[in-house]
Amino acid sequence: MNHSTPSPDPSPQCGLLYLVPTPIGNLEDITLRALRVLKECDLILAEDTRHTGHLLKHFEISKPMLSYHKFNEAAREGQVLDRLKDGKQLALVTDAGTPGISDPGQRIVAEALASGFQVQSLPGACALTTALSGSGLPTDTVHFFGFLDRKSARRRRKLTACRDMDGTLVFYESPHRILKLLEELNDLMPDADVVLARELTKKFEQYVRGKAADLWAGHAQLRIKGEFVVLVHQPGV
Ligand code: SAM
Repeated sequence: MNHSTPSPDPSPQCGLLYLVPTPIGNLEDITLRALRVLKECDLILAEDTRHTGHLLKHFEISKPMLSYHKFNEAAREGQVLDRLKDGKQLALVTDAGTPGISDPGQRIVAEALASGFQVQSLPGACALTTALSGSGLPTDTVHFFGFLDRKSARRRRKLTACRDMDGTLVFYESPHRILKLLEELNDLMPDADVVLARELTKKFEQYVRGKAADLWAGHAQLRIKGEFVVLVHQPGV
């Protein structure tokens, strides 16, 4: 393996879309390359310009921004592609973590590729990979579901369908529904090993590990504030 080959330097006249991961809590978790791209690009597409404004200020970066979020991504498509046609280099960021992972990004990536533009995805902070590697659960086969539906019947259908899946199941879940998910896991797969990865990279980072049935039985003791990744593995499946 050659560790010294830099990723191709795009020619300046060619429009290019960068996907730039940002920290999921700890501001140190941004790469040198991400900072360089944010400094050198022509425009930052940001899920929330105020939020990204704080990040840029922290790193003393001053750059024009355009909002790009799930409510305007369809409307923005033409504008973004026009800028790429003009040869601009754009950097897409979301509030935290990797664009396109339960966040805006997939749609504009598909459009940019279909229109023949280059897309460069930078590696970096992501709650999915951080939780998975810290969980201690098997990492060879992984199924990522993002957020489950809010509707009980649809959640249950999805969880029932993944009950027989081999490997580690990974969910993002809001603190409002974390107990609901534990109850569902207790009902459907009580013997599964569950890891609750909470507030990753932040001051109150915590991994809670146990059988689904035991975590549900002891749920009154759990701290359910903050952000969670829930990982599930059924031994023997
Ligand atoms: N794109 C992001 C990524 O790369 O992880 C995910 C964005 S999604 C809108 C937000 C969800 O990711 C949260 O509800 C939580 O499930 C998970 N998440 C993000 N940051 C986290 C953290 N610091 N600790 C635990 N979970 C986190």
